[in-house]
Amino acid sequence: MVATVTYEELITQNEELKSQLEEAHNIIDAIRAGEVDAFIVNNNNAHQIYTLKTADQTYRIFIEKMAEGAITINKEGIVLYCNSSFAKMINLPLENVLGSAFINFIPQHNRQSITAIINSAWHKERQIEITLPGKEKEIPVLLSLNTMEIDGGLALSIIVANLSFQKEVQEQLKQKNQELLKAQQVTKTLNFQLQETVRERTNELFKSRENFKFLADNIPAIVWTTNGNGVLDYYNKRWFEYTGSKNLDGNEFSSFLHPEDLKQYHTAWNNTIQYCTDFEIVHRLKRAADEKYRWHFSQAIPYKNNKNEVVAWFGISTDIDDQKVALEKKDEFISIASHELKTPVTSIKGYVQILQFNFSQEGNTHAAGLLSKVDLQINKLTQLISDLLDVTKIENGQLQYHIDNFDFNTLVYEIAEETGRVLKKHVVNTMLAPSKNINGDRNKIGQVITNFIENAGKYSPAGAQIIINTVINKNSLRLNVQDFGIGIPEEQQCKIFERFFRVSAEKENTYAGLGLGLYISAEIIKRHNGVIGVDSKKGEGSVFYFELPFV
Ligand code: ADP
Repeated sequence: MVATVTYEELITQNEELKSQLEEAHNIIDAIRAGEVDAFIVNNNNAHQIYTLKTADQTYRIFIEKMAEGAITINKEGIVLYCNSSFAKMINLPLENVLGSAFINFIPQHNRQSITAIINSAWHKERQIEITLPGKEKEIPVLLSLNTMEIDGGLALSIIVANLSFQKEVQEQLKQKNQELLKAQQVTKTLNFQLQETVRERTNELFKSRENFKFLADNIPAIVWTTNGNGVLDYYNKRWFEYTGSKNLDGNEFSSFLHPEDLKQYHTAWNNTIQYCTDFEIVHRLKRAADEKYRWHFSQAIPYKNNKNEVVAWFGISTDIDDQKVALEKKDEFISIASHELKTPVTSIKGYVQILQFNFSQEGNTHAAGLLSKVDLQINKLTQLISDLLDVTKIENGQLQYHIDNFDFNTLVYEIAEETGRVLKKHVVNTMLAPSKNINGDRNKIGQVITNFIENAGKYSPAGAQIIINTVINKNSLRLNVQDFGIGIPEEQQCKIFERFFRVSAEKENTYAGLGLGLYISAEIIKRHNGVIGVDSKKGEGSVFYFELPFV
């Protein structure tokens, strides 16, 4: 039989349903507002009344305000109560949650485990971590399930704690931990590398110290080091063998020095330490084996740190006694030889002049001409012998000076004319400042000027100019001899005034000479309290000069 319902009945039913819905809404609002303590749920067509035992206004507000979600479900899993935090968490309006099955809000893949937990939570308090579908991404949550008494039946309260922040912090912590682990790993590696480097360097240092020690102990010279202040801290084996000393005592050094060299040595060393200049000195040192003093050449150089501070001095003292004796023998030989040569050369010159005169008288101009060339060569020979003699005299401190007062310009003009006659292929120009009187050996100063002009001619091409000029300073006059010849390389300029020194380059080998003229010149100027020097550029020419104090 089919029940027929009239239109009026349907309207009545509709009105009833409407009012039931309104009632339901009101109840929900009232529960949320704490205005009612109980409500009825239609359960399988039977109505069940729930009274909230803790329906206290304070707790309601508290639960409403708390950040965690709070839900109460009945045995059938229907949500009896839910706070707005939970609704917000799952992004649904509150009214859609109330009265719905709780399991519907759980993602599909979690449902089975949640159902099992809910079932067991009716007997024992439970907790589970799951994820809920949030607004933008899933929210990790902790569900705490507890039974609670509600008048008329047992309900299950579920507190949903949002673990997002905690998880984020945990994640950050994990990341930081990983970074820390990485950093620890890096530190460990670095530490290991550092240890390796230190080990290698220590080995290298040990090796290099051993190498240094081996080298220093086996070279035939005394090696020593001091600290930055010049206090001795090392002697090699040779020192102990040579002096017979048993101690590493810097003060002991003076007792092995020749008494005549003591003052000079200490002055030089003190200057070196004070002004940080290189140390070079020739001195005598007593040998233990025969108690004899032997000549030594000592040198020291500073070792600086990256702040340019001297942290140590490295010194070496070489035994030059044998060389010094040999040099003395050589000087002695030169001295004797030049003396012995002087007499026959003077006689030859005399005879050549007589012959020259005789041939001229006889009208044999050819023979006379040849003899004048012989005379020129004899002059060169005489000059060489005289230079050699001067050198030996300088070495022995026997070069005699005849001091006079003379007019400087007169001397320069005389020499310019004399040398000009010989240097026929050059143009000699003189540009002299007003003359001054000089106190000194006229001949020897003339010898220096001659040497300058002859060299200017010798080391510059035919036709080139030679300029002689003077400059007057406050207390001294300066003579310059300028040429436009081959010049002198810069690195050799400082050696040019040394004995037997000749510039070593292909071109220079073609010029005859012994390398004595400038050495003698320097010695002469020094003895007149003057200064000698050269300004030169290779390939462009040179200016040789000296300065002498005038009266
Ligand atoms: P010598 O000329 O007899 O070799 P010196 O002592 O006069 O000896 O000169 C030493 C060296 O200096 C020469 O051998 C030469 O190499 C160089 N020298 C001297 N004067 C000049 C100059 N005017 N131009 C270039 N080089 C020069």
